[in-house]
Amino acid sequence: MGYRRGLFLLQGYAVFSIDAVPAFNDNYIWVIHEDGHALAVDPGEAAPLEAFLQRNGLTLGGVLVTHHHGDHTGGIAQLAKRFPGLVVHGPATLAGVTAPTGDGRMVHWRSHAFRVLSVPGHTLDHLAYYGEGRLFCGDTLFGAGCGRVFEGTAEMMFRSLQALAALPADTLFYPAHEYTLSNLAFAVMVEPANTALRQRLAADSLKRERGEPTLPATLAGELATNPFLRTQVPEVIAAANTEAGFTLPDACAVFATLRSWKNRS
Ligand code: ZN
Ligand code: FE
Repeated sequence: MGYRRGLFLLQGYAVFSIDAVPAFNDNYIWVIHEDGHALAVDPGEAAPLEAFLQRNGLTLGGVLVTHHHGDHTGGIAQLAKRFPGLVVHGPATLAGVTAPTGDGRMVHWRSHAFRVLSVPGHTLDHLAYYGEGRLFCGDTLFGAGCGRVFEGTAEMMFRSLQALAALPADTLFYPAHEYTLSNLAFAVMVEPANTALRQRLAADSLKRERGEPTLPATLAGELATNPFLRTQVPEVIAAANTEAGFTLPDACAVFATLRSWKNRS
């Protein structure tokens, strides 16, 4: 797969690029860089990131970690050896984190700043990083889907997703996995008559055929197509009620039903 190159010059924001470095089967290590300096999100393995940095003449100065799973943290020790003084931002409980952070705090890198959001559900320690119109959300929000609930409760995950969905609609979000097409297949089962969803499936299928990431994507697009953010939409509620076999009491119960339905499908 090739690298997705994005150079951003937004009003009031400094210039930086963001690239997707593929790792394992379907992970992305997002690399934010400018002037030879780089910040990497969730380096699950070091080798593909080191190769990318070397090829582009970049020095790694910082890491953002979203949660403790190995596919997001496995490369940190090797990178810390290779880049002395590497600042690793992440949950306080995580080995290798040099700059523990948490909900409501800010992370600074060069002239850029990211707000830290606690988004428990997939894991209890899960953090997201939001700044300059971009959201790095690990395994919480995916293209057309969301992470599995491993450590938290469905209600926690629901609230975390609602908090992310409340960010500005033009926010670009950068998940840690390329799961969009399989998520879209599930979304079409839930909402077969959703035209925005059909259009997204066609567009994203084409991107994957070309070997391109489907990500980043906008929150506006998720609000129109991601069933886990559409638990107030009558068609989604009806599909979840049918799946449950009874009338679900609220949006959180619709979410929980969709999540367990997806796990089985
Ligand atoms: Zn994970
Ligand atoms: Fe993961």
